[in-house]
Amino acid sequence: ATTTTARDTQVFDLIAKEQHRQESGIELIASENFVSRQVMEAAGSVLTNKYAEGLPGKRYYGGCEVVDQIEQLAIDRIKELFGASWANVQPHSGAQANTAVFLACLQPGDTILGFDLSHGGHLTHGSPVNISGKYFRPTFYGVEKETGVINYDIVEETALRERPKVLICGASAYSRDWDYVRLRAIADQIGALLLADISHPAGLIAKGLLNDPLEHCHIVTTTTHKTLRGPRGGLIMMRNDFENPFGIKTPKGDIRLMSSLLDSGVFPGTQGGPLEHVIAAKAVAFGEALSEDFYDYAVQVKANAQAMAKAFVDKGYQIISGGTDNHLMLIDLRSKGLTGKLAENTLIKADITINKNMVPFDDKSPMVTSGMRVGTAAMTSRGMKESDMEQIVGYIDDVLMNHDNDAKIQTVREEINSWMKAFPLYA
Ligand code: PLP
Repeated sequence: ATTTTARDTQVFDLIAKEQHRQESGIELIASENFVSRQVMEAAGSVLTNKYAEGLPGKRYYGGCEVVDQIEQLAIDRIKELFGASWANVQPHSGAQANTAVFLACLQPGDTILGFDLSHGGHLTHGSPVNISGKYFRPTFYGVEKETGVINYDIVEETALRERPKVLICGASAYSRDWDYVRLRAIADQIGALLLADISHPAGLIAKGLLNDPLEHCHIVTTTTHKTLRGPRGGLIMMRNDFENPFGIKTPKGDIRLMSSLLDSGVFPGTQGGPLEHVIAAKAVAFGEALSEDFYDYAVQVKANAQAMAKAFVDKGYQIISGGTDNHLMLIDLRSKGLTGKLAENTLIKADITINKNMVPFDDKSPMVTSGMRVGTAAMTSRGMKESDMEQIVGYIDDVLMNHDNDAKIQTVREEINSWMKAFPLYA
């Protein structure tokens, strides 16, 4: 029986090692965060044992009475958080959420228009190595070279020329807010659906600290594990459900609503059984995000990002677009004579985790890159404030300016390890 199986020390020792790594270093990967203990508890619960294909109240398996209530809680809470009228919380990840939308809204070969991957967009918005770029015809808009900011006149020009069926906004490395009103006006001119992928700034949007995409975009997708601070996963939502524009009917001849097409896009379209343990963890995280504490957290994430951007600029670093409206920024290291690869590999020696990142119009390969991306969601969860951001940038600059001095880097690392004890994580 499972209860008599010897404890797997091989795996659990490695998990303990990873916990130590997370606790003793500075985590600046913009897509990461630290969830609460109760989020982890739900994700590690008996719900992992349950099959529940279908939706609450409409399952293909018996014994779903309890998971139905859990999934309904997750749905109700996310609807309240974003003022949505409909949500599907089953996508296993952000990529799955986007794929489900494409399956529901597109035919193979249809045109999509997204934000260029090399300017900060995401793989799932039309990259040739992703299903979105292989099965559909991907076209792109980007930022302007001079400003690092999206020029919506060019988005409009591109949309009118390419006539996409779905116009996608949202990014992985764009530090500015989005003009959803303008994007909707562009989409309406060509009868396109407007999809916002708010994976990165979702937590800030939920608390009203950035423009609201739900009012203007037909469909909104997000991951749940970045600024939203939930378990790894994805979801799809809409504020205003609408009659699908493709005239697809139910077997009884009724027009199917978009929500029904999207539900089918998730299951059976692209997934089998939902991960009810992860959905329970999502419900817990959404409950936390509804709290006043989470508003304070989101405000601090933004304030910390502003402080971090200013500290970088003060030290002569160049930030794409000159600053940030959200939790992240993209730094062009060329003015310092460094590559993203060197920065990532050197900073990790001091227990500072960042990721190398292409900058717009980069002349280096994706494995080398000219930039690094940093974000403040994770360190804000550990209780850091603006002055701590200045200290972090001081450490980063110390390490990068001494990248061939291992002794110096070791000294910084020891300082960081001892400093991080002041910000207990899972004590
Ligand atoms: N969309 C955006 C904008 C993202 O930044 C990411 C992840 O980085 C994803 C989708 C994909 O999410 P996941 O890694 O959960 O598939």
